Amino acid sequence: MSDPAPIPLLDIQNVSRIFASGDSEIRALDDVSITVWSGEFIAIMGQSGSGKSTLMNIIGCLDRMSSGSYHVLGQDVSTMDADRLAQLRRETFGFVFQRYNLLATESAISNVEIPAIYAGTDFNHRFSRAKELLTRLGLDNRMDHRPPQLSGGQQQRVAIARALMNNPPLILADEPTGALDSKSGADVMALLHELHSEGRTIVLITHDEKVASNAERIIHIMDGKISGETIIHEARPVEADAPAHKGTISFAGSAREALHMALKSLRVNIFRTSLTLLGIIIGVAAVVTMLAVGNGSKQKVLNQISAMGTNLLMVLPGAPGIRPTGDVATLTIEEADLIKIMPNVEAAVPVRTSRMTVRYKDIDVQTVIQGVGQDFLIAKDWRITKGQFFSDKDVRSYAPVVVLGKTVESNLFPDGENPIGKFIILQNIPMQVIGALAVKGASANGNDQDDTVVIPYSTGFERLFGQRRYLSNVTVKVADVTQIENTQNAIYSLLMRRHKVEDFNIRNMASIMQTATDTQNTLTLLLGVVAAISLIVGGIGVMNIMLVSVTERTREIGIRMATGARREDILLQFNIESVVVCAIGGMLGVITGFVFGFILHFSGMQVIFTPWPALLAFTCACGTGTIFGYLPASKAANMDPVVALASE
Ligand code: ADP
Ligand code: MG
Repeated sequence: MSDPAPIPLLDIQNVSRIFASGDSEIRALDDVSITVWSGEFIAIMGQSGSGKSTLMNIIGCLDRMSSGSYHVLGQDVSTMDADRLAQLRRETFGFVFQRYNLLATESAISNVEIPAIYAGTDFNHRFSRAKELLTRLGLDNRMDHRPPQLSGGQQQRVAIARALMNNPPLILADEPTGALDSKSGADVMALLHELHSEGRTIVLITHDEKVASNAERIIHIMDGKISGETIIHEARPVEADAPAHKGTISFAGSAREALHMALKSLRVNIFRTSLTLLGIIIGVAAVVTMLAVGNGSKQKVLNQISAMGTNLLMVLPGAPGIRPTGDVATLTIEEADLIKIMPNVEAAVPVRTSRMTVRYKDIDVQTVIQGVGQDFLIAKDWRITKGQFFSDKDVRSYAPVVVLGKTVESNLFPDGENPIGKFIILQNIPMQVIGALAVKGASANGNDQDDTVVIPYSTGFERLFGQRRYLSNVTVKVADVTQIENTQNAIYSLLMRRHKVEDFNIRNMASIMQTATDTQNTLTLLLGVVAAISLIVGGIGVMNIMLVSVTERTREIGIRMATGARREDILLQFNIESVVVCAIGGMLGVITGFVFGFILHFSGMQVIFTPWPALLAFTCACGTGTIFGYLPASKAANMDPVVALASE
């Protein structure tokens, strides 16, 4: 009968830990060898600075040794990856620290539950177990208290309950009584004895001889070396059973947990959260409002253009693509008359415009004088509200008559006096008002179409516009809109025959609409870019806040890692936190955007909400959260537990 040699619980051989400190190095542990058997109660005793905590961190896989070998239950720790180490911390070790290392923002019971969360235990089981443990440790009436509301002794008992949560075979206690009064200290020691008598292995670290005397075996450590051993009770080499594998938290569970933690930490840091949110809200609201305004103005322009009639053709002087100016003198009245007699042409109105001053009594106003033919009203679909429009006879007889646009009428006759029959002065020439036009509103390019005075073109050429008898445009109304292309082509042929060169251009409403749409799209794009920039700025704000948050909560990360959180759990937690901030900000931003849009709407601006800018901005906000949250999150996840724990 040859039993294989029993495997110790912990097997530490020739372990050293060297810290670089400037140019020199510190040998915190120097060639330490310890074997711990299952069921032992050992104390590691030494003065402050002798390397006890360093040893405990290596035993607990919170830190890595510089050299030597370390086996837990026969398995080589140096070959384990981060997840496997997290599993060891979760299932094999329970930590008790001098400074408790509880999460200050969580209740006692939530603190106790943490190791079970990372082990994937479902809520009911972990809640009842945490309750049971706290009750056993005499804290049944303190479960919902947060650590700052508890005494030191109570906090240490919460920490012990947490260490027991996953039922680990080994308890690692680093100066567990160091911060406690003697009564609480004695309570904690009694607890450790109780746990030992239940069969648990205890490794107790202390500088205090009296505390150490509780153990069965005391290992003395001095300047990083083992300086002796006091055996009170000889250990039997008992082989430990491997702890039951509890599993790990599922992705969904981890995400749910992360969401819970995120909401909690956001609530705790309400002011900082609001500032972060503000950035996102402004960004998203800007996108929503600006695009709604952009769309609104585009629609308004398009409506105005189509209100002008899709049955219109504008013949303009100047080659296509070149902005027509008054100097291009290519269109004549004769040509307007030729167009008028073409098939499918209902009206062809010669138009000549010029800015001039009109006067009535002592009021002077600058306005647009339009010299037009008598078919102007028909072509433009305008109406007369007072008096009448001039006739063919007026045009032929160079009648000195005018029809006033609404704006000019209000300016010249502010008291509501009836203008019909009155004489106004146009460049020293008295002209009689015979009619007034109905309100037409702003035009496609934003000009006030009512700011005008309409006169017969003949009168204009004879007395106002000077020598050169060219036209600003010929406005053509077609009878059958479906044939508008043919008519446009026919006019083109006619003018080409006469001019030989293409020094004119003909536009229909479709092409004008296209130009306006392009302009408006550019405007909307510009607004969108401005809005997007504010969104990015908001995202950078989120990144800053997350970086601050991670730095501030490094200790929390250390605690979570010591209780078994894997890197991906930490990564997920911080990522979800930033996504949650951005999603909340995005939502509020969309609402704010709509509210602003409605305010603008009721103050007379045309706004049109479409779902996609809101969706896009919201998605972008969440995306920004993911991208900008990733950096701090991965920084947090890649920290060594011992480094994280050491931070204040
Ligand atoms: P103890 O817990 O016994 O009081 P420690 O294990 O904390 O002692 O420290 C042992 C020695 O190692 C001390 O001299 C300490 O200054 C040094 N030391 C511990 N941690 C670090 C570190 N992260 N960097 C540099 N030196 C360290
Ligand atoms: Mg220490």
